[in-house]
Amino acid sequence: MDALPTATTADAPIFDPVAFRLTPQEVALTAKAREFGQRVLAPRAARWDREASFPTDNYRDMHAEGLLGVCIPAEEGGVGAGFRAYCLTAAEIGRYCGATALTWNMHVCSTLWTGALTEDLEMDEATRAEHRRRRRVHYDRILRDGAVYSQPFSEGGAAAAGAAAFGTTARRVEGGFLVNGQKIFASLAGHADYYGILCTEQHGEEKLSRRDTLYLGVPATAPGVTVEGEWDPLGMRGTVSRNLVFRDVFVPEDAALMPPGLYFQAASRWPHMFMTLTPTYMGLAQAAHDFCVRYLRGEQPGTPSVKRRMYPTKQIAVAQMRVMLEQTKALWFQAITEAGPDPTKEQVLRALAAQHTVMENANAIATLAIRTCGGQAMLKSLPLERIYRDSRCGSLMLPWTAELCLDRIGRDALYEKGETD
Ligand SMILES: Cc1cc2nc3c(=O)[nH]c(=O)nc-3n(C[C@H](O)[C@H](O)[C@H](O)COP(=O)(O)OP(=O)(O)OC[C@H]3O[C@@H](n4cnc5c(N)ncnc54)[C@H](O)[C@@H]3O)c2cc1C
Repeated sequence: MDALPTATTADAPIFDPVAFRLTPQEVALTAKAREFGQRVLAPRAARWDREASFPTDNYRDMHAEGLLGVCIPAEEGGVGAGFRAYCLTAAEIGRYCGATALTWNMHVCSTLWTGALTEDLEMDEATRAEHRRRRRVHYDRILRDGAVYSQPFSEGGAAAAGAAAFGTTARRVEGGFLVNGQKIFASLAGHADYYGILCTEQHGEEKLSRRDTLYLGVPATAPGVTVEGEWDPLGMRGTVSRNLVFRDVFVPEDAALMPPGLYFQAASRWPHMFMTLTPTYMGLAQAAHDFCVRYLRGEQPGTPSVKRRMYPTKQIAVAQMRVMLEQTKALWFQAITEAGPDPTKEQVLRALAAQHTVMENANAIATLAIRTCGGQAMLKSLPLERIYRDSRCGSLMLPWTAELCLDRIGRDALYEKGETD
């Protein structure tokens, strides 16, 4: 038996820049994320998972690398990455630490949705000017102070699935809003500086309406904000997704991350915005595949250098993994490439199919990798079992859970607008 392999060579890109015709910005950002992920995130990932603790050190380093402002428009001091550039970059991060990639996504959405995405939405000039002024308040905190934003939407009812108004409410009072309600599964709870909540503006006794959804950045230190509940889940343990409770929390007008009505317009006209949870799992799919290949070649650091690649059954399993990975990459790349305002019905169906494929295949590839590598490969000293557990979580994430994707694809493929039976 040879010595344990320890040296780590630089990983190849998930999406080859030439083959996938990446833009210069995408090439630079993905290279940076890959190098940073392999060098900084990968060695720390086991700790956050074991402790179910938040990767605070990673956020400090990501701020230094300029990654917290990746989707802040360039003219406002950020990197100016658009939707696809962000997705490709986040996939590279997800390869090395799923929990960091997933929580980074929550943070980045507070800048992507309020930045590039809102440029495609309709607002009158005065509203747009005020929106730009307000978002700068948030962007400055991120760029200057390394402020971290989270994205707690889920409430345990139908709202996060887009089927009802959010039960968390904001009532207008002098100088701002009074927020009341509860969010479940709030990744970064107790660790974000601002919670970017979706809530419903309450007009007197009127029934709550999705059209009145507000997107507010609530300071974590505001009186009335509490973090509650345990956090000891199967996977994505470093996300620390505990419950958040808001009791008569006052937030000033400038807390608004979007003008009233704009989130409803975004969700209706820019549905690919809900795909931003997928890059993490695209990265995990690649990581599971890569682990398996390294392991069978006897090149996985931390394991004896025993080759297992000569067995035909293992070759077939690797081929199956590769087929699934290529299918996932191709469909996902197409969907993130055509993301934009007012997509066609075909494009939305493709986005839902891509979401379903990434979330399900990431776990299917990890499952196959464990079976193929064998018992020694699923020890906690190696990353594969963590990748397996983390990858199981993707299909559960609203609003586009794997079930809801199938639900919509089936219905929308069979019915045109207005048709009933
Ligand atoms: C690791 C992790 C991190 C998370 N981080 C965040 C976060 O930062 N912010 C956040 O807002 N949420 C977050 N979530 C929550 C996530 O998006 C879901 O809201 C949560 O997992 C749903 O919980 P549930 O399965 O109990 O939901 P339920 O509402 O009980 O739904 C169960 C299932 O029923 C189906 N279903 C739900 N509603 C409908 C409907 N109207 N029609 C048909 N089928 C439906 C769905 O497939 C769903 O999976 C996180 C979840 C995980 C696992």
